[in-house]
Amino acid sequence: MRLRPGLDLLWRSPGEVQIGTDPRWAVRLSGLTDPEVDLLTGAEPGSTVEALRTSATRHGIPADRVGALLQALDQARVLCPIPARPPATGTATLLSGAAADASAWSTVLEDGDGAAHVRDRSARTVGIVGLGRLGLQTAVVLAAAGIGTVLLQDDGLVTSADLGVGGYLPRDVGSPRVEAAHRIVHDANAAVRTQAPARTEPDLLVLIEHGAADPARSRLSMSAGVAHLSVVVQEAGVLVGPLVVPGVTPCLRCVDLWRADVDDRWGVVVAQLAAAARPHGPEESALAAVAGSLAAAQALAHLDGRTPTVRGAGLEVSLPEAVPRVRSWAVHPDCGCGAIPVTPPVTASCAGDRVLA
Ligand SMILES: [Zn+2]
Repeated sequence: MRLRPGLDLLWRSPGEVQIGTDPRWAVRLSGLTDPEVDLLTGAEPGSTVEALRTSATRHGIPADRVGALLQALDQARVLCPIPARPPATGTATLLSGAAADASAWSTVLEDGDGAAHVRDRSARTVGIVGLGRLGLQTAVVLAAAGIGTVLLQDDGLVTSADLGVGGYLPRDVGSPRVEAAHRIVHDANAAVRTQAPARTEPDLLVLIEHGAADPARSRLSMSAGVAHLSVVVQEAGVLVGPLVVPGVTPCLRCVDLWRADVDDRWGVVVAQLAAAARPHGPEESALAAVAGSLAAAQALAHLDGRTPTVRGAGLEVSLPEAVPRVRSWAVHPDCGCGAIPVTPPVTASCAGDRVLA
């Protein structure tokens, strides 16, 4: 066992030490002698129990007190196992920038092995379709977080409206977005791959669209069985989600059907939105930064094997404050997407009514 990396070891008062600051696991140890306080506040992050015992001997702490102290640390979840796997080599080596991610994940994961968690991401492949400010922000965060392959797709050119968030530079204006994005993503993580072998399906597609999600595009992902995260940029907001696992979770058609249930002209409206969609439309700065990062965090949750909030839900991020709100959808019984309907919809989308006399 070892001290869980990433936890702060803090002096509080004579005889009292605080370990960690996150309310989910922070703990206070009191009734300690001065040498015991010195032992804990002076310990290196990630120290093994053996090293702690050796240090305790140097501090003159009796063996029975050391045993009691270690037991208290173990019960407080401050100790975690020493990683079973030796650090991998070659392309799977943890990059220096990912050390911050590994440290934070060491506090969250039960086994405390944030480094292995980040290294495992090198085997993952994500496709990003739509490389405006928001999509580039998502791509850069995923690359920096250690995702091994980030595939980039966009047929537009960088405009001055793309600068400022994500990473496009003034000298990129006029050049293909996809070329500039390759350079920026490689700058974020030199080891990231931006190409995959032919016929490789990504683990996740992130589809960034404007106005409305394109039904044809989501049908393609559904028929290929590829998990996809929809991100739709709207007039003064962004909807991040749902993340669709084909045949398992509500799909984008489910969402449209729920909307049509409360707005019988939704089909007419969405058809016009899709027809008028501006793939390279404007993306407001704070919305692009917040929603782009949220999309990356939700994508990481899926790729790491957790259940992201946006499975069967969306995060609405709107001006003026860009505070995310969760909107949930169930599988629609008329959709036939293969996922089994379980619960009625929690909410559905419809504009407020204003009837002119
Ligand atoms: Zn469906």
